[in-house]
Amino acid sequence: MEFSSDVNLQTLNTFGLACRARWFAAPTTLEQLQDLLKSAIFKQAARFLILGGGSNVLFLKDFDGCVITPHLYGLRLLESPGDEWLVEVGAGENWHSMVCTLMEQNLPGLENLALIPGTVGAAPVQNIGAYGLEIQERFAWLDALEIQTGKMCRFDLEACEFGYRSSVFKGVAAGRFIIMSVTLALPKTWKAVSHYADVDNALRQQGLSASPQNIFEIVVAARRSKLPDPRLMGNAGSFFKNPVMTQLQADALKTDYPSLPSYQQADGTVKLPAAWLIEQCGFKGVRRGAAGVHDRQALVLVNYGGATGEQLLSLAKEIQTEVHSRFGLMLEPELLIV
Ligand SMILES: Cc1cc2nc3c(=O)[nH]c(=O)nc-3n(C[C@H](O)[C@H](O)[C@H](O)COP(=O)(O)OP(=O)(O)OC[C@H]3O[C@@H](n4cnc5c(N)ncnc54)[C@H](O)[C@@H]3O)c2cc1C
Repeated sequence: MEFSSDVNLQTLNTFGLACRARWFAAPTTLEQLQDLLKSAIFKQAARFLILGGGSNVLFLKDFDGCVITPHLYGLRLLESPGDEWLVEVGAGENWHSMVCTLMEQNLPGLENLALIPGTVGAAPVQNIGAYGLEIQERFAWLDALEIQTGKMCRFDLEACEFGYRSSVFKGVAAGRFIIMSVTLALPKTWKAVSHYADVDNALRQQGLSASPQNIFEIVVAARRSKLPDPRLMGNAGSFFKNPVMTQLQADALKTDYPSLPSYQQADGTVKLPAAWLIEQCGFKGVRRGAAGVHDRQALVLVNYGGATGEQLLSLAKEIQTEVHSRFGLMLEPELLIV
């Protein structure tokens, strides 16, 4: 297995940014991956990047290093003596296709996370979440290759240090491991996660029972109506994280902005919708050349065609500055800026 040189990444990032990788490889086995890591090209490269589906990255320019996309596939039901079905999934599998396959095999539990773009291997990196559920709630362990030693390591729930759109792989372990497979834990006794307003309201309004299939369909329909399809309009989903703060801080803001929505978290903190803050600053639907803010979801920056990473970043900075000066909050990007 060898690296290919000067590879176009435009179809490998959902912003559709025209950038190139100095070196690129898509290994399909552990052995191929180990060969690549031992190669002179990898050892001499100034930098490297593990790329999944490219749906949570913003490339600012050509990548002068090695890009590795693990094409590791497979889905296996493991012996599951406890209360959960354990399913081991290869890092290269498409997340949404996997959710559909599991649903078809009568293994529900991930329906709230349907239609999230990207690969299974990337899902734990930012602890993907949507519609009231995060992957950490369906997680058993993951197996990862340590880049420096070439050794396989197992990370359980605790070792992953999951948080809101974060994990150890965005912290101290960033850039040190290649996630090879993720083992999910799906409850044998399924219970609906339907407390999220969009799901709850749709079930009531349509008079539907809270079944896995109904929740799946509600989530898919809601996402299709709100989010731009990256195949039609380049984007990476939410550009910023929602700010999380103490109740006291949220109350202080609410004094000045009584209509500010807020969501109480289980740990007592409060989450504010970044989309609302951005909208209040007048950015919804704004365009700066080919870069813009989506007209239905202010948290999503879009490439109308031909935008550069720098243009998108410049718009993101403009938003950060405005939100900060108005609300005193610094929005933090959710995605990886390369
Ligand atoms: C339209 C749209 C909607 C979205 N909605 C949501 C949402 O609802 N909730 C949510 O949480 N996210 C959402 N996202 C963001 C994105 O889908 C997720 O973060 C997804 O998990 C990224 O997967 P990926 O394979 O594309 O990762 P990439 O973008 O390729 O990589 C993301 C990060 O993971 C690292 N990485 C990737 N694969 C591996 C691996 N095998 N080993 C180690 N590190 C790896 C990369 O180095 C990078 O740091 C959305 C994105 C889009 C475009």
